[in-house]
Amino acid sequence: MEIISRCKSFFSLLNIAVFAFMVLSYVAMIYLSGAFFMVGEIAILWLGNGIATALFLVCSPKRWPHLALGIMIAYFIGVHSHFGSFDRNQIAFLLANVLSVVLTIIVFKKLCKEPVTFNDLRQNILFLTVLCMLSALLNIVIGATALWVISDIKPVLSRSLIWFVGNTVSIFASTLTAFHIFSSFKNKTLSLHIQKQQVFELGILCLSTLLILVEVFGREHYNKFTVSLIFLLFPVAMWVALRFNHYITSVWITVVFLTCGFYSTVKLGPFIFMFNDLSYAIFYMQIYIFTACSTALIIGTINTEKESKNHTIAELNKQLDNLTKIDPLTKIANRRKYDDSIKQALASAKTNGTPLTLIAIDIDYFKLYNDEYGHLMGDECLVSVANAINKNLLRTNDIVARMGGEEFFCILPNTDSAAAIGIMQKIQSSIAELNIPHQASPIEPYLTVSMGACTKTQSDNLDAMRLYQLADTALYAAKEQGRNTYVMSNYSELSS
Ligand code: GH3
Ligand code: MG
Ligand code: MG
Repeated sequence: MEIISRCKSFFSLLNIAVFAFMVLSYVAMIYLSGAFFMVGEIAILWLGNGIATALFLVCSPKRWPHLALGIMIAYFIGVHSHFGSFDRNQIAFLLANVLSVVLTIIVFKKLCKEPVTFNDLRQNILFLTVLCMLSALLNIVIGATALWVISDIKPVLSRSLIWFVGNTVSIFASTLTAFHIFSSFKNKTLSLHIQKQQVFELGILCLSTLLILVEVFGREHYNKFTVSLIFLLFPVAMWVALRFNHYITSVWITVVFLTCGFYSTVKLGPFIFMFNDLSYAIFYMQIYIFTACSTALIIGTINTEKESKNHTIAELNKQLDNLTKIDPLTKIANRRKYDDSIKQALASAKTNGTPLTLIAIDIDYFKLYNDEYGHLMGDECLVSVANAINKNLLRTNDIVARMGGEEFFCILPNTDSAAAIGIMQKIQSSIAELNIPHQASPIEPYLTVSMGACTKTQSDNLDAMRLYQLADTALYAAKEQGRNTYVMSNYSELSS
């Protein structure tokens, strides 16, 4: 029974889809690599292994057997249909390709503990050393040994070196881009993550890259000065790595590699001018582009890491700042927040010509409450009162702050005195609804508050201090009137 269910899960629809995708993409890459073949030599870019590496990284280990099987079948189909035959030497290459990818993925996953994103320096160094270089080294060691055993072809150092470099740059050129595309599909975030303001810059980057590639590789004649044009690729590589994200950088690297590879195989470009031998020309082209692009990648990653650290610090500072503006007991704003907010509210009232109301609220006979029920109950009571006030402030810019003790202030932008009276009535009802017993209160058997408010109209020239005093005076008047009531400051009438 267990075998049947294992078989079922092995042949699940998703696993078959992964397998089919591996086969199709690998075969496509063999055809694409065919465009970069040197006559009678090995492929200068073997892109299938890059695609395979990216798929291994994106898929969970339980799908790795499907991927490994996929490479084998794709290799056979691709080589047979593209090159017309599949001789026994190809078994050595097949073994080398499957084993180098699988073994390096195992090593990489062991070393890379966090989820793979390639956004940090450690992962990118592991990418260059393990996924690119170690994979290429294993490929040549396994391949050359197998060739020796199967066909008695002895390894040649220069040829092995070309094989190694070709493999390293192939994985470097294709894995990152493929990985970003596959993981975007997997996480359903199919976007290049470009900020709007960078679209224009990206356009200039694409155009510059195109011009440089055409100028460097598309010339008919070279001399010892025009050859040095290849160094123009360095600043562009730095530009893309420092200004754009990892996704764009990897796509740029892939495009540059494919273009340079293609030009070189059709015997164009400065490297052909410098080295008469095509193998050496391509070998040095690969080393040059690899150096430029990997340096850019590392510098870009260091830059991104720095930026993200700065971003985190800024976020933490913001959170810290917010925390220092919250009253720990009631979790509403504190006096610090009040001081900032009243300044802002006054400024925008002035700019927009809108009224601004400040309400002062104080719990009646709170000292007696504490004496009767204890400090802890008093604290609970403060929390309930803060919530009851807060639920009546409906606009996003309305703020209630605990100013200390049992005193609260509400800042209500764009609120005239009539609206303010309505809000005070609602607060009074909400406090009554709480129905907090207060046996010691001389006025009611439950907890009550007194309120005083002052509205700054467009014509008043009140500052924060004066507004505060007027609201506080109105509150005092409410206390004088017997508490559990509200008083509206008549400042406008007095001053007119
Ligand atoms: P009034 O109606 O005139 O406002 O009388 P009152 O007793 O409320 O006025 P008073 O300002 O004399 O007393 C305020 C009391 O609030 C004093 C203190 O016991 C209490 N209080 C201040 N801060 C806290 C607090 O954080 N927790 C508790 N439980 N009580 C507090
Ligand atoms: Mg009080
Ligand atoms: Mg008080």
